[in-house]
Amino acid sequence: MTTAATKHITAPENCTGCALCANVCSKGAVSMVWSEAGFLVPAVDTDACVECGLCVKSCPAQEDNLKKLHYADDNQSVVSYGAWNRDSSVHRHSSSGGVFTALAENVIAAGGCVFGVVWKDKLTPVFDKAETPEQLARMRGSKYTHANAAGIYRAVRHELSTGRRVLFSGTSCQVNALRQFLRKEYDNLLTVDIVCHGMPSHLILEKYVEHWEKECGSPVRHISFREKSEGWLNYHVARNHEDGSTRSTEHHKDMYMRLFLSDLALNKACYNCPYAHLPRSGDITLGDFWGVQQVHPDWPIREGVSAVLATSAKGQEALLNCSAALNLMPESFETISAKQRAVYIRPKKEVPQHRARALSLLKQLPLTSAVHRILECDYCGRFCFVWRSFPWFFYKLAQKTKNCITRCLRKK
Ligand SMILES: Cc1cc2nc3c(=O)[nH]c(=O)nc-3n(C[C@H](O)[C@H](O)[C@H](O)COP(=O)(O)OP(=O)(O)OC[C@H]3O[C@@H](n4cnc5c(N)ncnc54)[C@H](O)[C@@H]3O)c2cc1C
Ligand code: SF4
Ligand code: SF4
Ligand code: SF4
Repeated sequence: MTTAATKHITAPENCTGCALCANVCSKGAVSMVWSEAGFLVPAVDTDACVECGLCVKSCPAQEDNLKKLHYADDNQSVVSYGAWNRDSSVHRHSSSGGVFTALAENVIAAGGCVFGVVWKDKLTPVFDKAETPEQLARMRGSKYTHANAAGIYRAVRHELSTGRRVLFSGTSCQVNALRQFLRKEYDNLLTVDIVCHGMPSHLILEKYVEHWEKECGSPVRHISFREKSEGWLNYHVARNHEDGSTRSTEHHKDMYMRLFLSDLALNKACYNCPYAHLPRSGDITLGDFWGVQQVHPDWPIREGVSAVLATSAKGQEALLNCSAALNLMPESFETISAKQRAVYIRPKKEVPQHRARALSLLKQLPLTSAVHRILECDYCGRFCFVWRSFPWFFYKLAQKTKNCITRCLRKK
């Protein structure tokens, strides 16, 4: 799609779901909806649209705009750290080291506000504003699915224009979209980009909730993707049900995490993420310091350690101002990124061949069958429930066949 071809937006092939188009439209004609494949895409109310073309012109995924990405500092010299929160409760309830909360608490204490992602309900993460530590608590923890940012960049601009301090945290594509929306630097804005290897299809979450509600006979109330009672390295996915019960699964056995981490059902744009490189869009970048146990076994690894990059002078200052709440240990970028270099500096990657099949199986099948067909059994998937249902029969049959062949060979 080119600017000349259409005056109102349709999601381009590499749409990240950043919702910039929904924020720039002054007629409120663009909303973000789930596509059939389970990704946030824009939908235009053509009655409200006046065909000004601004949404198309602004879209960061349009080829011309991909060359104009927005960085915290064009000549970034990155300072990197391993870090964790001194408050043990915050530390435990954050995805990694709880650095986000330390930064956000400072902004709130100075009378500012924080924009980040909260659960609206069990299936829907959305951006929201926090002005108190209680509201901030809802932002803690990663929600591993697309969060809707419609209307949020406007709300950020409104707060900035009053002179209030604002912290915005989101994925790199969302921070880039905010910068493009604002079109100028604000001294009172601090941006935090959360490193991410990709946004999984929302179909996985829908099927996941459906599966556990059926299995447990009670609606799911809340999901925590990083439950650390067995430690950060062996985090669990925990589900709270309406009947008061909580059940959890180790991440490497959990169907949601297995599909997410397989990278077979991510948004197309994420395979070739234009934002996964240095310089970065945020003043500060946060991720997990995977592999820290090998280099710093004496750090509090049980509750998790964050990998932190300060990519601008503003980001560095904000981190140093948190020293009362944070343990901030200088460490080289090579070391903090060693186990997942690609989330910081992504090489060009093809969209996996099996992605379309995986998404179509997710749409058609219950979760257990879909996971089995996508991850475990590429070839005999259609029939393997037969082998699985009667294993003894097939074992005996195989034994008999083997004996028969051995006897035949002996006779020869
Ligand atoms: C989709 C996704 C994929 C990720 N993949 C990786 C990865 O491959 N490697 C890695 O090292 N780290 C990854 N992370 C980041 C990691 O999980 C932690 O969020 C990060 O280490 C910060 O942790 P924290 O303890 O400082 O704060 P936390 O309190 O855990 O961080 C919460 C912050 O994350 C933001 N957030 C939560 N969910 C979303 C969402 N859906 N969209 C946008 N922002 C969100 C909140 O606004 C809040 O600011 C990913 C995060 C997300 C959301
Ligand atoms: S990339 Fe962002 S601005 Fe472009 S269509 Fe998608 S959601 Fe809209
Ligand atoms: S063309 Fe203009 S009015 Fe129409 S959806 Fe885009 S920004 Fe809104
Ligand atoms: S991988 Fe890139 S495009 Fe995808 S959600 Fe993360 S920052 Fe956005």
